[in-house]
Amino acid sequence: MTSRTAKAGKRVAPAEHREPQQLSEGLVVAAHGRHYVVAPDSEADVLVQCFPRGKRSEVAVGDRVVYQPSSADQGVIVEIGTRRNLLYRSDQYKSKLFAANLDQLLIVLATEPHFSEDLLGRALVAAEANALLPLIVLNKTDIEPALMKARARLEPYRALGYEVLELSIKKRPDEAREVLGARLTGHSTLLLGQSGMGKSTLVNLLVPNADAATREISTALGSGRHTTTFTRLYPLAGGGALIDSPGFQEFGLYHLTEGQLERAFPEFRPLLANCRFYNCHHLHEPGCAILDAMGDGRIVSARHALYAQLVHEASQIVR
Ligand code: ZN
Repeated sequence: MTSRTAKAGKRVAPAEHREPQQLSEGLVVAAHGRHYVVAPDSEADVLVQCFPRGKRSEVAVGDRVVYQPSSADQGVIVEIGTRRNLLYRSDQYKSKLFAANLDQLLIVLATEPHFSEDLLGRALVAAEANALLPLIVLNKTDIEPALMKARARLEPYRALGYEVLELSIKKRPDEAREVLGARLTGHSTLLLGQSGMGKSTLVNLLVPNADAATREISTALGSGRHTTTFTRLYPLAGGGALIDSPGFQEFGLYHLTEGQLERAFPEFRPLLANCRFYNCHHLHEPGCAILDAMGDGRIVSARHALYAQLVHEASQIVR
């Protein structure tokens, strides 16, 4: 009894030993240059404008971060949580982050205007290299004269096992909402699409408050930032998130190694062990199983041309 009383009376930590700085955690929901917007875990409906601490530290939308608040709506990012993956594009000099911690890549194409097969091929390679599930949307299927042609262009991709969702987001929104909702809910999905394909129509369909959310994020980023030039994350009503990245015309993958590239083509994979040389580049080598397969039509020559172009680009990188 007495010892217990003595113990209870012994106070260990004086009040002034409190942590000098209260750290908070949150999710990066927008990025523009070195400006980031973080949605704190602790408070809903609050956005915090954050800057990274180091000059070279790169933060991506979708990153979990620890930040030190400097005011009610500003902070400094001091730590980036462990990433499952980080999707980015690169040329020979620099890289540009898309997003981190993704599950899927949704590539938005349309019957009209003409979509770039080069960008589609590169997006698929990026998805494969990062173990993301690629989904292709063919939008504007109501434009019938262009539908057959677009279908024919996508047939080789269907044959490779890629799912193509034919939608008319504007004309048949309910169907589009159902089809997309079933695949996107509960997952973190990055949207990629050239301008004119209907990417923003798709965002507005699935995120009814997207415009208001974008304005809030834009305010948090700092005034004067144009709403289409930054990557942003929208939480989905049923769970998961949709990440919208600005339109782009180039998708450089200079950072992928030759080994990553050859495995990012699913039609190459079962043949890789059959090349005569174990270090075959599949470009000009005798006894190459990939070149043989291209010769008899099992591999589409345009796909091999993309592979060859990507291998060439990877060799150009300036480190
Ligand atoms: Zn080979």
